[in-house]
Amino acid sequence: MERDGTAEFRLDPATVEDVLRSGRERAASTEGSALLDRARDATSVSLEDVAALWLADVDGASLYAVALERRRRRPAPLETFSPLYLTNTCDAECRMCGMRRDNAALQRETASEDEVDEQLRTLQRRGMNAVALLTGEYRRERRSWAIARVNRALRSTESLGFGHVLINVGSLDDDEMEILLDGIPRHEDGSVVPKLTRCTFQETYSRPHYARFMGRADENPRAHYDRRLANFDRAHAAGIRVANPGILVGLNPDLGFELIALVLHSRHLLAAGMEVYLSVPRLRQIAGGKQRSDGRGVRPARVAAVDRGPGGKDRADDARAAGDPARARADRDGALGGLGFGRSLYGDRGPLPARDEPVRGDRSASVRGDPRGAPPALGRDRELPRSRGELTETRTLRA
Ligand code: SF4
Repeated sequence: MERDGTAEFRLDPATVEDVLRSGRERAASTEGSALLDRARDATSVSLEDVAALWLADVDGASLYAVALERRRRRPAPLETFSPLYLTNTCDAECRMCGMRRDNAALQRETASEDEVDEQLRTLQRRGMNAVALLTGEYRRERRSWAIARVNRALRSTESLGFGHVLINVGSLDDDEMEILLDGIPRHEDGSVVPKLTRCTFQETYSRPHYARFMGRADENPRAHYDRRLANFDRAHAAGIRVANPGILVGLNPDLGFELIALVLHSRHLLAAGMEVYLSVPRLRQIAGGKQRSDGRGVRPARVAAVDRGPGGKDRADDARAAGDPARARADRDGALGGLGFGRSLYGDRGPLPARDEPVRGDRSASVRGDPRGAPPALGRDRELPRSRGELTETRTLRA
């Protein structure tokens, strides 16, 4: 499929810094209560308002109340999904991730096609409507096996009737997107019929921090900042209409920069007619874990929830009024009016059936390891010594 001419997202750090500077001035010259009133009542919130809310001395509870109020005007039921790892192999070396290629402590496993189908059927029996398909990220010449696996799983979700499939398999090139979506039904305009969400978390929009954690070596598939940044644009060109960007708290200490960059990226995607799900820091305490008690961890989510993009819901209404089929479809549930928080998981399936199966299925008896064979050595990004104390969490959930 030819590119539709939608401009790729580019981030100018100077723009983000300008917004933060204006936001700082606004925060210093405006009462916090006035900022909150403006955020609650405005049809659309400017980037400077978002920055001011982030930087102002506004308590978390008040911010939360405004975010709730704005969300009440565009209600959407909570949605959840089950992640399904097709493999825990990866060619990348992100320093914060347990799946990184050089983590010898992780036992590598790859599910067979039959096991994937079995897992999908199990999820379906349990009433799950949404599933995320995950792999690692691979070098160009070694990506085809993963794409074929994901395509097969995708076809299975289609035949089993899943309502929403999230695809978290790293960045793909234009021709690879076509292979990934091979056999998936399309509308006349080329967009895919099922609800497919492309998940590509930039993790950090700061180039220096990106290089620090994701590396710089050319052969490292995850080291290419710009290629990752434009992954949603390639997905859109291939017919996908839902995007899931995200940041990872802990990489760049300047969370204000990350927040504004994330909002800019989300607005770009909304303007292209995509529905947007934001990945935010963990909102509830992990079992047995520790969570900051000052609410700072959830503050980015509260500020982001206030933003609706320029025009917000009005823009979505405009799309419908203008008879823009792609945008109207992207907004068939009103999600274009804001940064989507999803739809009901069980809304059309009745109550969740009683669970009569173990929460975790049996692990496969044999460890299949990495079916791609021994990979050639990757370039090492060893300029910085590894620091075990930099992060509080080891994460294995993202490609
Ligand atoms: S974050 Fe993703 S790409 Fe990076 S090492 Fe982990 S699984 Fe691989």
